[in-house]
Amino acid sequence: MESTKCLIIGSGPAGYTAAIYASRAALAPILLEGLQPGGQLTTTTVIENFPGYPQGVDANQLMADMRAQAVALGADVRPGFVSAVDLSKRPFAVTVDGEETIMAETLIIATGATAKYLGLPSEEKFRGFGVSACATCDGFFYRGKDVAVVGGGDTACEEATYLANLCRKVYMIVRRNVLRASKAMQERVARTENIEILWECQTREVLGDASGVTGVRLVRKSGEVFEKPIDGFFLAIGHQPQSELFKPWVATDEQGYILTEGKSSRTSVEGVFAAGDVQDPHYRQAVAAAGSGCRAALDAERFLLQ
Ligand code: NDP
Repeated sequence: MESTKCLIIGSGPAGYTAAIYASRAALAPILLEGLQPGGQLTTTTVIENFPGYPQGVDANQLMADMRAQAVALGADVRPGFVSAVDLSKRPFAVTVDGEETIMAETLIIATGATAKYLGLPSEEKFRGFGVSACATCDGFFYRGKDVAVVGGGDTACEEATYLANLCRKVYMIVRRNVLRASKAMQERVARTENIEILWECQTREVLGDASGVTGVRLVRKSGEVFEKPIDGFFLAIGHQPQSELFKPWVATDEQGYILTEGKSSRTSVEGVFAAGDVQDPHYRQAVAAAGSGCRAALDAERFLLQ
């Protein structure tokens, strides 16, 4: 059976950064890439807010570079999906692809989160071509245009006000006649002149052509169907942390985000650390995830030295 001082699960910015730091600390880490090598960023196109790239950087290239850097420093980066874990005692047993088991002295969970989508075929068709689940990532491309944000929570309000600074008009598509968001966020939306809330509306279809999204077909609670011409369709109906496998062992909040102690990456299980979006319901940015991956590797190194 294979053993390692440090096993990293997940291949987004958090996982690769943890691998870079753990390699330099001579922990000879193994990183399991999971089902979506490169993580959530690989679903977007150009990244303009990752420091160090004045012209922006292709998201897939950025992730390929992070991977290459981890490998160059000695990380053992492999394909592999974790199908089971036993965190009851150290070393931790991690089953990969239902077959092989790796025994890990420390574990860094960097499995990320996935944005929720409505599940419409048209939404899937235009994903990356006008359909996005991250206004901070993609809003810039819609300067001076009309866009829609689906959802009525804090994220939707935050994304709508962010987009309102860039776009001509922002529609919020809200399925009920109230917002779920906090009072402060609701007031911020109400104060923003170019946001219009379409109450009690559901999306029937995202409309588009070869150039990308051109509009959205909506249905009101009353049954009335109507269309709005838009260039961007943003989902803000929540995220799902990928923590299912670890929930029986590590403490999570009610939404499933892994709880970490203070500013550290320590979880409720000694020797298990969490980094990136799986423990971060608030920032969800590549650079923030990379920073927390760094912290997790440093925490793992210090733990092993104890
Ligand atoms: P929430 O779960 O709070 O809100 C999701 C929103 O999407 C709700 O309005 C919900 O409608 C709507 N929605 C869900 N599914 C669908 C669907 N299938 N079709 C249409 N609408 C749908 O998620 P958030 O991401 O907004 O927030 C997550 C957590 O993070 C919250 O605790 C929030 O307070 C926090 N947060 C805090 C921020 C801050 O403080 N600045 C910023 C961002 C998030 P309905 O209400 O009808 O269920």
